[in-house]
Amino acid sequence: MRAEIVMIGTELLLGEIVDTNANLLAVALRNIGMDLYYKTTVGDNEERITQVLNLALDRSDVVITSGGIGPTVDDVTRQAIARATGRQLIFSEVLERQIAARFRNFGREMAANNKRQAYLPEGARPLENPVGTAPCFLSEDTGGRGFIICLPGVPRELAHMMEHTVVPLLVEWMGGVKVIRVGVLRTCAVGESNIDRGIGDLMTSSNPTVGLAAHAGQTDVRITARADSEDEARTLVAGMETELRNRLGVAVYGVDKATVSEVVGRLLSERELTLGVVDSLTGGQLSRELNEAGFERVVTSDLHGSRAEEAIAAARSDVPQGADALTLAAHLAKRVVPEGGVGLAMIGPFEGRSTAIAVRGPGDLMTNEQGRRFEDSDLVRRWTVILGLDRVRRAVLGVLESPVDWN
Ligand code: ATP
Ligand code: MG
Repeated sequence: MRAEIVMIGTELLLGEIVDTNANLLAVALRNIGMDLYYKTTVGDNEERITQVLNLALDRSDVVITSGGIGPTVDDVTRQAIARATGRQLIFSEVLERQIAARFRNFGREMAANNKRQAYLPEGARPLENPVGTAPCFLSEDTGGRGFIICLPGVPRELAHMMEHTVVPLLVEWMGGVKVIRVGVLRTCAVGESNIDRGIGDLMTSSNPTVGLAAHAGQTDVRITARADSEDEARTLVAGMETELRNRLGVAVYGVDKATVSEVVGRLLSERELTLGVVDSLTGGQLSRELNEAGFERVVTSDLHGSRAEEAIAAARSDVPQGADALTLAAHLAKRVVPEGGVGLAMIGPFEGRSTAIAVRGPGDLMTNEQGRRFEDSDLVRRWTVILGLDRVRRAVLGVLESPVDWN
């Protein structure tokens, strides 16, 4: 069963208020496992609301609207719903009496314009709104396309109506709650387009679905399964996870909320390995992140800033004249490697903004590579930190690509 939400209010389009109602509706639908494919925001204009509702009815089974059911002239949701579902707006004396009674309860007099709220699409089922005065209702399309459920814009009222009336109704229609389970595989130092190439065909799967979210240096692969039971959902996620791991291999560094620094710090400390770093690229950010993840003890030396420049200058006199940046990085990694640990050199930027990264250890394992073109931006620094951490991770796991023996 497919739901769709339509957020009504010109102030939403003007950016004057934040659309927290959409979030509330989306979470509530997700929690019961109902599919939500579209959300539309539209201003207080009867013509446009009607158009949006017609489109929504064409492609969804149930449409939930938020807002525009107050007593004022610009509250036109009622009229639009009547038009979209092919019904007349009719005056309900029962509803009028209810509204008047509610005003009396609040100790207020019902104003003439509140009579507008007593008009409903013919045949609509009123849904009692005990926290406000605007009546909510459910109107069925005369063309058989589905239902529109009309809710208030006031967040407190909307939340109450969803929890107590709409969600139970939807669950009943669906024949029970569905379970939604999400698993996230986290990859690092492989671009989103490479991940996409590796698993693109799986991303058209419908249950579980697979989607990507990219951050600097990292791409999350999200698996979402829907099922009748927790067990069934778990099995669906696990099956897809196995397939994804087969394809992505060591690019997957962790799951759910794991960070790269946490994973690398844990790998090093579990194996009682320490890390020596020369870093002229991130200003010490890489080792700071290991510190912040609680692994300050694994970093035994960290040369950055002017100390990195000094180390690079000293290394130049140790390597043959005219040696390239990669050779220099390899030499530095070897110099900073602690006894039995891992040495990492991330140096540059050299002319042409190129960088070089080298990792040494554990053992004699060694690699070096050209980094990406460097510029001093948050994004590139972030990428560089991830790349450096990833190379350390691969070295510890013994899966450095094309390891080079630099002895
Ligand atoms: P009223 O009877 O108060 O006119 P209504 O159903 O017509 O209620 P709106 O007039 O659209 O609803 O909105 C009432 C108030 O609720 C707005 O002033 C705004 O503060 C808040 N509101 C409306 N829509 C949203 C939304 N999508 N997200 C968060 N707040 C909202
Ligand atoms: Mg209003």
